[in-house]
Amino acid sequence: MQKECLECGDKIVGRSDKKFCSDACRNSYNNNLNKDSKNLIRNVNNRLKKNYRILESLNPEGKAKVSKYKLLDKGFDFEYFTNIYTTKTGNEYHFIYDYGYLALENDYFMLVKREQ
Ligand SMILES: [Zn+2]
Repeated sequence: MQKECLECGDKIVGRSDKKFCSDACRNSYNNNLNKDSKNLIRNVNNRLKKNYRILESLNPEGKAKVSKYKLLDKGFDFEYFTNIYTTKTGNEYHFIYDYGYLALENDYFMLVKREQ
């Protein structure tokens, strides 16, 4: 079966387990993979940082109650958090590092700060 180079699409001649037509293509393919995953990590980190700054700014005292609207208005993204903590009573806190939130009734959230 004729194989094609993963980078440039040229036909590969020689061993059947080869994925690239040349070292140059293999290097450039791997460099691009790294670049993509670095971009992904940077984007997720930026999202987390933004969420963190929002929680920090809305919760200067270590405990606060805010509306979902206020969080969204500031650009909070509920898809990004670092961990979930479930209490014995079944309450589920989402944390972004040491700042967390708990969903209350009527689209309100309790903001908390984890003690170090
Ligand atoms: Zn190639």
